[in-house]
Amino acid sequence: MFQLIDGKSIAAQIKEEVKEEAERLKQAGIQVCLAVVQVGNDPASSVYVRNKKKACEYVGIRSASFELPEDTAEDELLELVRRLNEDDSVNGILVQLPLPEHISEDKVIQTISPDKDVDGFHPESVGRLCIGEKGFLSCTPAGIIELLRRSGVEIQGKECVVVGRSNIVGKPMALLLLKENGTVTIAHSRTADLKEITQRADILIVAIGRPRFITADYVKEGATVIDVGIHRNEDGHLCGDVDFDNVKEKTAFITPVPGGVGPMTIAMLMKNCIAAAK
Ligand code: NDP
Repeated sequence: MFQLIDGKSIAAQIKEEVKEEAERLKQAGIQVCLAVVQVGNDPASSVYVRNKKKACEYVGIRSASFELPEDTAEDELLELVRRLNEDDSVNGILVQLPLPEHISEDKVIQTISPDKDVDGFHPESVGRLCIGEKGFLSCTPAGIIELLRRSGVEIQGKECVVVGRSNIVGKPMALLLLKENGTVTIAHSRTADLKEITQRADILIVAIGRPRFITADYVKEGATVIDVGIHRNEDGHLCGDVDFDNVKEKTAFITPVPGGVGPMTIAMLMKNCIAAAK
């Protein structure tokens, strides 16, 4: 019998904790503030930005909104980021990705002050994670560690397989599992025998961006399966990279889509804003 990892309720718990922290800081005279920058009006980005601002409002973090037109010059955006870096009333800076093609995401990320890098994408944050120093953690993988911890899934000594090696999910995920003393393997599109690798996993984390790719034959009996993927299928429903109905009975713990990893990303962003203010 498998156990569902309820990301929605764990994220709600974290938001309550953040709300208390934000209130404590307010009592001490500090109003936590997140600057949210969006360039253009890509519909998916607008939804993410709206949800982040809503979460801020709920937990008592002020969000300062900067909506720039699609044709904003790179220099203009960099100038805004520099101004926000200097602004003492701003604790965290979030530039919603993806950016229009004429703007270098790397340049923008590198311009954000590492002290305000609440997305955890700055090379300094990534470097700190790599050498085991304290710093901002990328929200999605940090959220997955919280999901495992709060569901009572032990990582230490376990075979952990991460499928996907992106800078925002796969790589930081692998480093965090390593920090928690997991034995970590990273698989990707050039991995020779993916099934042979994933079948060894006590904890299998899937972030590949392919709907329902992972079926029961990829999964070890009794494994914990975390599905990062998010897709809208033919009939308009959301699904993940894991074929949930096919896989669930084989697992001990599994995240659903929606309601698994998704809600954790914003909750961890809120947590990072508090850390930035502190
Ligand atoms: P990327 O496209 O950046 O990376 C995908 C990774 O999967 C790559 O490393 C790629 O390998 C690997 N991959 C692709 N196909 C295969 C395959 N057939 N076998 C093995 N590996 C494969 O995606 P992201 O990491 O940004 O996102 C992954 C998924 O997670 C997406 O569905 C995205 O929407 C979702 N997501 C959800 C979030 C949430 O909050 N829930 C947050 C972020 C992402 P290679 O490097 O060799 O190309």
